[in-house]
Amino acid sequence: MTIKNKLRAGIGFLFVLAIICCGMSIYFLNRLSADAGAILKDNYKTVKYMQNILTAIDSRTDKLSADQQKTINDNLVLQEHNITEAGELQLTDSLRAVFESLKHGSDNKIAESDLRNRLHKQVYGIMKLNMDAIARKNDKANTTSKRGSLLVAFLGAFLFLVAFSFAVNFPGYIANPIKELTARIKEVSNKNYHQQIHFESDDEFGELGQAFNNMTRKLDEFENSNLASILFEKKRIETIINSMHDAIIGLDEKGVIIFANQVACNLIGMKADQLNGKYAPDIAIENDLMRKLLVNDQAKLRIFADEREGFYSRESLSVSSRDKVIGKVIILKNITEYQQLDEAKTNFIATISHELKTPISSIKMSLKLLEDERIGEVNAEQRQLIGNIDDDTRRLLLITGELLDMAQVETGKLQLNFGSTHPQNIVDYAVKAIKFIADQKHVEIKVKCDESLPKVHADLDKTTWVLINLLSNAIKYSHEKSTVELVVKKRKNDEIEFSVTDHGKGIEEQYLPRLFERYFKVPNATSEQSGTGLGLAIAKDFIEAQAGKISVDSEIGSGSTFYFTLKRAIAAA
Ligand code: ADP
Repeated sequence: MTIKNKLRAGIGFLFVLAIICCGMSIYFLNRLSADAGAILKDNYKTVKYMQNILTAIDSRTDKLSADQQKTINDNLVLQEHNITEAGELQLTDSLRAVFESLKHGSDNKIAESDLRNRLHKQVYGIMKLNMDAIARKNDKANTTSKRGSLLVAFLGAFLFLVAFSFAVNFPGYIANPIKELTARIKEVSNKNYHQQIHFESDDEFGELGQAFNNMTRKLDEFENSNLASILFEKKRIETIINSMHDAIIGLDEKGVIIFANQVACNLIGMKADQLNGKYAPDIAIENDLMRKLLVNDQAKLRIFADEREGFYSRESLSVSSRDKVIGKVIILKNITEYQQLDEAKTNFIATISHELKTPISSIKMSLKLLEDERIGEVNAEQRQLIGNIDDDTRRLLLITGELLDMAQVETGKLQLNFGSTHPQNIVDYAVKAIKFIADQKHVEIKVKCDESLPKVHADLDKTTWVLINLLSNAIKYSHEKSTVELVVKKRKNDEIEFSVTDHGKGIEEQYLPRLFERYFKVPNATSEQSGTGLGLAIAKDFIEAQAGKISVDSEIGSGSTFYFTLKRAIAAA
């Protein structure tokens, strides 16, 4: 039965009991009232009539007057219509007979007195009969009243017990299953899906329990299937990572190795189960490669594995989730092939540049001879052509020189001759070398280099080359008749800083990070200005090889400043 029907039945039952109780009370009250009414009507009135008759007859002892007769007759008629008890009719008839005799009268006083006595006797007889009936009926009413009270009290007590047990049990009947359900739902919200409710009733709670059990079963199935699919996805990702040609190592945020694919294991020389779950710095204590991998600044690594030497580029990606770093992935890309091709290219460039230098130098020599008047007169047009060939030869020599320098740096054959030298020397050499070009463009070079500056630890030739390159760029990109400032100063960290500032067109901010890349040239440079795009890349290599730093600041329309730093010479301290 549903809770709704149970409630209806319970309340209906109480209602019926209350109505029965009320009905019984009304019934017994009615019976009592009927008994009392009967006593009043049947007997009390008769007693009253009889008293009236007695009063009338005793008011005069001689012959009955007309009034007396009328009163007695009226009451007797009323009595004759109110015969209720057994024997009352005979007594009333006798009373009528005696009254009729008394009414006609008799001269005989004795006979009249006798009639009066008989009348009295009949009247008292009727009164007694009715008084007895009153007493009997009263007893009966008492019995009815007691029985009624008992029955009503019994019904009331029963009603009370039913209502009391209803009041005690019903809240629990509703609240207990809700309490149980709440506790189970809390468990489910804590991902504890093995929850079952056993409501035995077949009402709404029973249905609720079944629905809840179905829900937790489904959640459990879903959780398990989710786990299975996550595990499947994990396996798939592991397979993909393992089948990659690059070495991949995953670390969590604490530096514990989560995974390392087969290539990574081969390079490190350890098995996956020796790596997984281990703290990477612990492995690094005994493993060279792991040590190198954990250091951030090595982008290219030479690794000897599987009895072969290989080159790998190292990339480290930090993995974040909701702005929180949750680990990192180290990827080692095999660039051996690329490296070999690059080396072949560099060697080729070095060979070609070297081979080109000799014929270019001989062209230059021949040009010098052509310019010599002793060899023969040249006309103005020919002189112009010789001048052009001379310019192009100089450029060719410059380019081959730069290519050779780059090849030297790339093949690691860069030779540095360190010495302790005053910055003024570097400045003097550079300014002298660049003076001709500056004068041609009417650019004034303003030098600020304090004599009190300490000496620097540097390769004089390479550093001068860098400064010449920066000055020549500054002049190249300056407007005619402008100035270029060359400032040398000591920095707070004891390094010596050289800066070259021009007031040319400047460089767009987006190109600044790429300026020191090989072969990079800012787009839209005029052909007259364009070079190889190698100058700044080589300058960077030269300065960094001397443990210095090179950088640039520029603003479109205002000009650019290139800086480089050198270490202070220890002897000069
Ligand atoms: P290049 O031989 O072409 O001058 P660099 O490596 O010296 O090669 O310079 C690279 C590029 O940087 C140049 O092509 C030029 O566009 C830009 N650049 C260098 N110096 C300056 C400067 N002082 N003002 C504006 N642009 C410059």
